[in-house]
Amino acid sequence: MTTSYRTAGAPYPQDAPVSQALFDRAQAIVPGGVNSPVRAFRAVGGVPRFMAHGEGPWMVDADGRRYVDLVCSWGPLIHGQAHPAIVAAVQAAAARGTSFGTPTEGEVALAEEIVRRTPVEQVRLVNSGTEATMTAIRLARGYTGRSKIVKFAGCYHGHVDALLAAAGSGVATLGLPDSPGVTGAAASETIVAPYNDVAAVEAIFAERDDIAAIITEAAPGNMGVVAPRDGFNRRLAELAHANGALLILDEVMTGFRVSAGGWAGLEPVDADLFTYGKVMGGGLPAAAFGGRAEIMSRLAPAGPVYQAGTLSGNPLACAAGLASLRLADAAVYQRLDELSGTVGKLASEALAAAGVAHRLSYAGNMFSIFFTDADVSDYDSAKTQNTAAFRAFFHEMLSRGVYLPPSAFESWFVSTALDDEAMETIGAALPAAARAAAAAGGGS
Ligand SMILES: *Cc1c(COP(=O)(O)O)cnc(C)c1O
Repeated sequence: MTTSYRTAGAPYPQDAPVSQALFDRAQAIVPGGVNSPVRAFRAVGGVPRFMAHGEGPWMVDADGRRYVDLVCSWGPLIHGQAHPAIVAAVQAAAARGTSFGTPTEGEVALAEEIVRRTPVEQVRLVNSGTEATMTAIRLARGYTGRSKIVKFAGCYHGHVDALLAAAGSGVATLGLPDSPGVTGAAASETIVAPYNDVAAVEAIFAERDDIAAIITEAAPGNMGVVAPRDGFNRRLAELAHANGALLILDEVMTGFRVSAGGWAGLEPVDADLFTYGKVMGGGLPAAAFGGRAEIMSRLAPAGPVYQAGTLSGNPLACAAGLASLRLADAAVYQRLDELSGTVGKLASEALAAAGVAHRLSYAGNMFSIFFTDADVSDYDSAKTQNTAAFRAFFHEMLSRGVYLPPSAFESWFVSTALDDEAMETIGAALPAAARAAAAAGGGS
């Protein structure tokens, strides 16, 4: 590419005529103009940037403006954009054939890599995290012969009907669905508890014996990053097992991002089923669920619980995932930890200097900043943040060439591709962004 980019540092013009034109076209024929809601920028306002290409730590939009990428495709891209080894693996796989509808060696190799890194004994590959959690729940129900699922407010597990009932225990108690189109019957199968609240889960089990599974994010990143309290996950496993239920640890975000073995590599958790996605696809659609052989063998065709997928274990996705995982050695995880530590510290220092109330919150190398002066340990406390301050902060960063998640309730993600120039761009943008947040009412 010989395109010359506008240099970051000075604010970019905030108008984005090419993205705007693409967004207009999209909105005419795609609901809201996007294929996944947060991309539409509704939480921050303005024109969503349509990306044209990426390289290392950078994304370049359709208007030719370059951004440091702190979203990394919502987590998958731990090695940055268009890593040469991953691109080569996908190209080679595509040249051999894009799909066969038969088993292939790549699927076996990817499954072996997952089993080698994690507590799971057997694994089934699917195409999205949603499919993984949906099927893990079906399997838990099939295995236990029970129907109810316990989930936590603020935890996201994909758009599975029964898992969208999450707006707080009041709504869940009434069995009201969170989204139109989810039936009351589906919503009533889900019991929602506050995150990090062991007593609430104990109370649920004290009252009922029809719980098939507890599902929890290994460390939540979908209400902003909220770390599990010490022993929380362990206690969930104990409670589930003492009551004949399973624990499903959703590692779709944490898996292969926070350590070689995911969250389970940082904190052993005696979960029965694990779900993966994001990093394991290397930027292509691949996800998985796995667990003890005794449970996984209940899946068709070994057992009676049905699950299938035309493109499951797709050769391109397996090649990308395998290449990405093979690059991800101990040095990569150490680097991700260092970089996330540095970016978080720089952001927090800039906000403190501008007098902006905030909480910097980590789970492994995932982190986010809550624009609040309240300690955040669950969804209710996460919601105390000043979203207007985040909006101002976000747009100032964007205008200075740093692409943050366009919502205050999302994790920031780093890649090993962040180099000196990218870090300098972040560092140069932060003071003005922090002042904008202060001016928008984020002062303490
Ligand atoms: C992203 C995510 C999902 C859903 O995965 P999709 O591939 O978007 O369907 C499920 N669980 C968690 C924890 C996630 O972060």
